[in-house]
Amino acid sequence: MELAVNMVEKRGQMVAEDQLGFGKHFTDHMFVMDYSREKGWHSPRIAAYDEFACFPAAMVFHYGQAIFEGIKAFRTEDKRIVIFRTKDYLNRFNRSADALCIPHIDVDFVADSLKKLVGIEKDWVPTSVGTALYIRPFIIATDPYVGVKVSDTYKLFIILSPVGAYYAAGFNPVKIKVEDRYVRAVQGGLGEAKTPANYAASMRAEYEAKQNGYAQVLWLDAVERKYIEEVGTMNIFFKINGEIITPELSGSILSGMTRRTVLELCREWGLKTTERRISIDEVYEAYTKGQLEEVFGTGTAAVISPVGELTWKDHKMVINGNKTGEFAQKLFDTVTGIQYGKLEDKHGWVDEVCKL
Ligand SMILES: *Cc1c(COP(=O)(O)O)cnc(C)c1O
Repeated sequence: MELAVNMVEKRGQMVAEDQLGFGKHFTDHMFVMDYSREKGWHSPRIAAYDEFACFPAAMVFHYGQAIFEGIKAFRTEDKRIVIFRTKDYLNRFNRSADALCIPHIDVDFVADSLKKLVGIEKDWVPTSVGTALYIRPFIIATDPYVGVKVSDTYKLFIILSPVGAYYAAGFNPVKIKVEDRYVRAVQGGLGEAKTPANYAASMRAEYEAKQNGYAQVLWLDAVERKYIEEVGTMNIFFKINGEIITPELSGSILSGMTRRTVLELCREWGLKTTERRISIDEVYEAYTKGQLEEVFGTGTAAVISPVGELTWKDHKMVINGNKTGEFAQKLFDTVTGIQYGKLEDKHGWVDEVCKL
């Protein structure tokens, strides 16, 4: 397949780095590719980031057959542009595709195209720590058909957005509500896939939690409302009595790349690190005994997000005096250190796009 490159005149303006926010500004170009049953994935191209035409009957609008990814590119101290764990994310994209009956992409081809796109948009990669170029690949079902079936046509887009810190609070502890009324996903459902459906299922709870001053909700399992699953856009970790614990991949939570990165680092550091079922009662009991040392979320957008307050029913747990824990800080410094080229990349996590 040949990637067509249609360069456009510079249109957008890079925003001052302290004004970026998250996901509000987009670069001049995007990557697009089409799929049909006859041709497979075809017509890959880099084109202007712009509106595009599709039928109001396009299946994605009616039945939600869609998947997405979230990846980041960085400008390093030694003047390179790099992408973090590109192919690991794109392999997960294919696992999500399986769950939604969407045809696989060729990971090597899309990774190469993505590098070309980021290379073209290198001036949009911000510089300061906490900022990055957020990469959003997504696939939508485009058959014009109002009826439920697996679509025969799709479009893959990759759009790019220069971003600042994910939370308004920056790298500061957030307030999280343990959700005991609504549920997000159930084993056998779509929780393992990165798909808009999971976010549709979470809107009501997230909205109500925000109204009450929380940043996000912590989901419990949908059957017993007892075992901890994950936060809205992040996996969750607990440090209890020196042990690092995160819920196992039960089938209803996302296998986060940041989760995986953190687990790999913790094991390398020789810490007791456990993936298992953990109940909210166990967390609360550890808290009452003074053993709940740290709680933090992991996700590409926020990297590491310390949790300062966790509210479950009428119990408010204030963690580590509502301050960023030492361990969360160390993880943040290590992961971002590797991403920004300040620490050696011993794991081969960083893919170079270009030297500047
Ligand atoms: C993307 C996402 C995460 C975080 O995964 P990362 O790969 O670390 O970015 C966690 N939970 C859900 C539901 C997600 O969509």
